[in-house]
Amino acid sequence: MMRKVDVALGARSYPIVIGCGIMDELTAFVRQAGYSPRGMIVTDEHVAPHCAARIAACIARAGVQAEVAVIPAGEQSKSLAQAEQLFTRAISLGLDRKSPIFALGGGVVGDLTGFVAASYMRGVPFIQLPTTLLAQVDSSVGGKVAVNHARGKNLIGAFYQPDAVFMDLDALQTLPAREIRAGLGEIIKYGIICDADFFAWLEAHTADVLALAPDAAAYMIARSCEIKADVVRQDEREGGLRRILNFGHTIAHAVETETGYARYRHGEAVAIGMAGAAQISAAMGLLSSADAARITRLITAMGLPCTAEGVTADAMYADLFHDKKTVGGRIHWVLAACIGRVCVRSDVPEDVVRNTIAGLCS
Ligand code: NAD
Ligand code: ZN
Repeated sequence: MMRKVDVALGARSYPIVIGCGIMDELTAFVRQAGYSPRGMIVTDEHVAPHCAARIAACIARAGVQAEVAVIPAGEQSKSLAQAEQLFTRAISLGLDRKSPIFALGGGVVGDLTGFVAASYMRGVPFIQLPTTLLAQVDSSVGGKVAVNHARGKNLIGAFYQPDAVFMDLDALQTLPAREIRAGLGEIIKYGIICDADFFAWLEAHTADVLALAPDAAAYMIARSCEIKADVVRQDEREGGLRRILNFGHTIAHAVETETGYARYRHGEAVAIGMAGAAQISAAMGLLSSADAARITRLITAMGLPCTAEGVTADAMYADLFHDKKTVGGRIHWVLAACIGRVCVRSDVPEDVVRNTIAGLCS
């Protein structure tokens, strides 16, 4: 069973291949790509033991010897210092402008490796092999690559599309349950912003979804990629529409900031943020209270939080106005008009925001 999603971006279009046992597809892709015979696979210390050798062998079968570079797991690896080490490694290996660089891991590996691929020799071929649910449904699709700066997350980066993305569902088997739930936060988001049927499907298949039953996993990952790809196709560089992907993220960023990016996984913070955005949407008279309740019910059913611990309402409120998506001091709220459709509003009254935040912190 294999699914394919095409990201249509003109000359930068690329395929996303999703399924169990898709290694032959990877080999075939590399064989026809016209790459230099030397490349690099970047992965982290958790992922490397499970699949680095197998992936290197697949790529070798296509005639590319790819050296495996293992970085420490965790967000702190998304740094200029780590990027510099990878540049040094690439130079030492003699990688040239047609040498492919593969990102084998979660969003940390993907964002860092993409940044390195975008910058090394002004850009070399980049292939994403995402191994977390979050990376498969979100970070590996859309071309945003970055490292963090001491002063903020993702501040140094680029738009750089991969040549292809291969999502091996087998890789998810070693993923901790909490990481699966974190990915589900973004998956629920896609239903809310674009697809009421998908949202209803998630409600009806919660058990299969949480267990990552193969058919359910393949479907929900493919559907999520289709939705994200479609939004990115229409707005590659976030001029407008792409903003809808930030549903739940305004509050999520405040939760993450206030908890030092330590207490919550990103998808968990997004779940809290979506519960908040649903409440604001209802308070603004946009969303029915029945639909707002469906949103919080699904979040809860997937084992995700709807309220935040370790934060205060005042600090969260102050953070909201420092979010980088704030334009001219006004927050552009992505709100739900119904399940399956969102709108952007910058006229949410202060007391509505304050009441919602206070409710989330209780
Ligand atoms: P992550 O890369 O840190 O992975 C989470 C944990 O799972 C890590 O410990 C990792 O080693 C481990 N892991 C990965 N695959 C595994 C596997 N198959 N089996 C066992 N363990 C495995 O985190 P993430 O949630 O995948 O990604 C978060 C990052 O993604 C953040 O830096 C965020 O900024 C970024 N992101 C980027 C975009 C984008 O558009 N570029 C979008 C969303 C998030
Ligand atoms: Zn997100």
